Amino acid sequence: MDRSLSSRDFHDGNAYADDSYLHLLLRSTRPELVTRHGARLEAFGRWVAAEVDAAAAYTDHEAPPRLVEAGEGGDPAARLVINPRYAAVHREAYRHGMVGLNHGSRPEPFLLTFLMGYLLSEADISIHCPVTLTGAVALVLDRLAPAELKGRYLEPLTRMDGTAATGGTWATERDGGSDVGASTTIARATNDGLRLSGFKWFCSNAGSDLALATARPEGAPPGSSGLGLYLVPRLKSDGSPNGYRIRRLKDKLGTRGLPTGEIDLTDAFAHEIAPPPRGFKLMMEALEFSRVHNIFAAAGAQRRAFTEALRHAAGRSAFGAPILSYPMVQSSLLDIQMELEASLGMAVMAADVFDEVWRRDGSAGEESRAWLRLLVAAAKYRTAEQAVRAASAAIEMLGGIGYTEEYATARLLRDAQVLTVWEGTANIQALELLRILAGPADGARILSNLLAPGLEQLPNPLQDLAKPIRGAIAGIGAAAGRIRSQPQNGPAQARILLEKTADVLSAATLLATAKTRLVESDARSALVARRYIDRRFTRRDLTHDASLAEPVLFYEAIEPGEL
Ligand SMILES: Cc1cc2nc3c(=O)[nH]c(=O)nc-3n(C[C@H](O)[C@H](O)[C@H](O)COP(=O)(O)OP(=O)(O)OC[C@H]3O[C@@H](n4cnc5c(N)ncnc54)[C@H](O)[C@@H]3O)c2cc1C
Repeated sequence: MDRSLSSRDFHDGNAYADDSYLHLLLRSTRPELVTRHGARLEAFGRWVAAEVDAAAAYTDHEAPPRLVEAGEGGDPAARLVINPRYAAVHREAYRHGMVGLNHGSRPEPFLLTFLMGYLLSEADISIHCPVTLTGAVALVLDRLAPAELKGRYLEPLTRMDGTAATGGTWATERDGGSDVGASTTIARATNDGLRLSGFKWFCSNAGSDLALATARPEGAPPGSSGLGLYLVPRLKSDGSPNGYRIRRLKDKLGTRGLPTGEIDLTDAFAHEIAPPPRGFKLMMEALEFSRVHNIFAAAGAQRRAFTEALRHAAGRSAFGAPILSYPMVQSSLLDIQMELEASLGMAVMAADVFDEVWRRDGSAGEESRAWLRLLVAAAKYRTAEQAVRAASAAIEMLGGIGYTEEYATARLLRDAQVLTVWEGTANIQALELLRILAGPADGARILSNLLAPGLEQLPNPLQDLAKPIRGAIAGIGAAAGRIRSQPQNGPAQARILLEKTADVLSAATLLATAKTRLVESDARSALVARRYIDRRFTRRDLTHDASLAEPVLFYEAIEPGEL
């Protein structure tokens, strides 16, 4: 970050162009993406700063969505009042290609649209969510649904002309959120097609044009293996409203701009995407896509927390000096920044593997799929936790004003908290990780095989830093081996393994960036990696060098001799 940016408000900047770390990371991992799409991302970053943020504050404070009374049997969306600014920003996100770019005759990598999600969540998680849901429906239709459904429904979701249809995913029920297999919604075959009846408990982007819904065909077995996956249009093919109703909207801590409804399905017309037992598996594919978006959203929230905190620290004086000159202030900022860089690094890693797994030639192997699940579980957990911490730390940095609704930080904290809950809580990520690490995929071996060579090839000053990481990878392997022979002990170890795996992945990405920067005689990223490893692995006392704090915070090059 150029020092002059520390005095510029978010809305006067450019969420993409101003993000020094994002540029460092993409230059070293995906330079061709920057070459091809830099201008697109720059336009997107300008829009996020100039328009999305102000609209988000307005919707959150003044005009959240609401339901109005209407007679039975009408269009479910007609009861929903969405303010025009929210609706316009939502439409514009699709016009920028957040869904459309990944489909059609020349699909772009998902990394591109995940990155847009990162930028978007710096300003509004309440818009990023419905775009994610629409993307999940499009992915399932494009790649997993019967050709007839794809032919009929994909095109409207992928339009980039401001008329895109939007999607929702309805899995959670009152008795089954984490435990989706407890679902009681019934799918009934009639002479006139399939009909769904049940009660969906959390339906974000309520009023969407299409939704994926889990349901159990009559007579199917209990549990997740008895679930099918269905496509529920809001309007039937003759234009009449489908058989469902938004019962009420959730009154939420955050993401207040996002309409999250409870939905009664009463003989709602539906298309079958996959019968049991494949239905649940397909919904999990959609969920994995949403989890990667969640990782990017959490990194975006951290980025916003960091820039708000740094800007304030640079401009505020107390006791006769800018607060940025105080070592404890510097240290808090360095901690937010270090976790942000680890989060963004894991996000890009996960997106790269996601792109590999979803390659259209279907060449990805089982190992890549297992690696993706492992990465996503650990990164979803860690980045969401850090988003909340960063938002909280930013409020503290701003002091009293940070706690008021006049600043973005209060909304940021309220919104960030949802990132830990939706798409699966920490315990659910821990159980997923356990299945991969200690299950038939032998994820512990994959983790070691994929990370060890990079750690071996680090240049000298970084080799010492890599030692505890190698030790932790061996420790994860040993723990997975013990769990394999005594699986009943797995759940008690799962959170510890989740924590350790997230530490290892974070350190690995920070060291990888440190290595590429050292080649260009810049030790800044190595200092960040060292801080991270001291904090999370060796628990060495941190020495604070005030002369280096500001260059690190402002992304200035640092002589390798300083290491
Ligand atoms: C704002 C918002 C929007 C949402 N939008 C959608 C949406 O659009 N579509 C949708 O389908 N869902 C949506 N959800 C629902 C969300 O995905 C679920 O709330 C979440 O998956 C948790 O499920 P639950 O609420 O039933 O909690 P539970 O599953 O009851 O979990 C409660 C606690 O128990 C723990 N727990 C559960 N099982 C285990 C276990 N085996 N071992 C250890 N701990 C366990 C969990 O970790 C958690 O801490 C939304 C939620 C929110 C808050």
